[in-house]
Amino acid sequence: MIDAKTWVYGIIGHPVSHSLSPIIQNLAFCYHKINAVYLAFDVTDLASALAGIRGLGIKGISVTIPHKMAIIPFLDKLDELAENVSAVNTVVNKDGLLIGYNTDCLGAMLALKEKADISRKDYVILGAGGAARAIGFALKKEGANITIINRTYEKGEVLANALGAKCLHWNKIKEVATYGLINTTPIGMWPKVEETPISKQYLRNFKVVMDVVYHPLETRLLHEAEELGLITVDGLSMLIYQGVAQFKLWTGKDAPKEEMFRLAKQTLESTLNRNKTLI
Ligand code: NAP
Repeated sequence: MIDAKTWVYGIIGHPVSHSLSPIIQNLAFCYHKINAVYLAFDVTDLASALAGIRGLGIKGISVTIPHKMAIIPFLDKLDELAENVSAVNTVVNKDGLLIGYNTDCLGAMLALKEKADISRKDYVILGAGGAARAIGFALKKEGANITIINRTYEKGEVLANALGAKCLHWNKIKEVATYGLINTTPIGMWPKVEETPISKQYLRNFKVVMDVVYHPLETRLLHEAEELGLITVDGLSMLIYQGVAQFKLWTGKDAPKEEMFRLAKQTLESTLNRNKTLI
């Protein structure tokens, strides 16, 4: 029951109406019988939102596109990993002190480790945005060799330099052959589900394919990789793992990962079916 002692948590982003975070985090609060609520805030004015978080004593915040980097100057402190990545997806309000963390790194690595090896393996990352930065730094920490391929070469080069990695032009995708391929671009995301960043014929050059896109759960990229018998890692696993890590930072408790995954999957499937009927 919501009462005068209910703690408020939430996600800030733009847009956020599609976010699965309220569903999974509220499930975790209910599971642990914590008197808290998690809401979605569509934020375009970051400065005002941060003043609101401080003024209202909001306990914790998830941060999504496009605020993961822009939020940094508004925070009081950064955890070391978030500082290295230069992106924050989690804020803890510790007695009025706003501390920034990045749980995307851990989320991606835990999802990948369920099925694949990382140390000393060669990985190609498609993209050079926030997700690519988080995954790139996490892979580097785990001892992987990284190549960045980005649509805008110059942006790819900046990330590659920060990681001590190679950078290739987008049209070289078909020429690379490595252990792992990770798509961190939105290509293939609903509603453009027929799109894929790499033709199926070149997918044979990889053993493991991960997609950070989770709507749909099985993107065309993952579907074709599976048809070829490759190991696949979906974006929902990363989302759940990063959410579990956020919950731990906020409450010190272990979130019910399996239940969160089941509910998120169910929600995605029903959204997808509803969207199909709208076409
Ligand atoms: P971002 O910072 O805006 O970066 C987007 C990247 O994708 C850029 O490198 C951009 O290239 C590239 N890109 C965009 N459209 C493209 C296209 N049509 N063709 C080729 N490249 C394209 O976004 P982000 O924060 O990294 O998020 C990227 C995706 O990851 C989103 O779909 C987001 O929902 C997802 N995500 C998932 C999780 C999870 O837990 N599963 C976590 C974080 C993010 P340019 O540099 O050329 O613009």
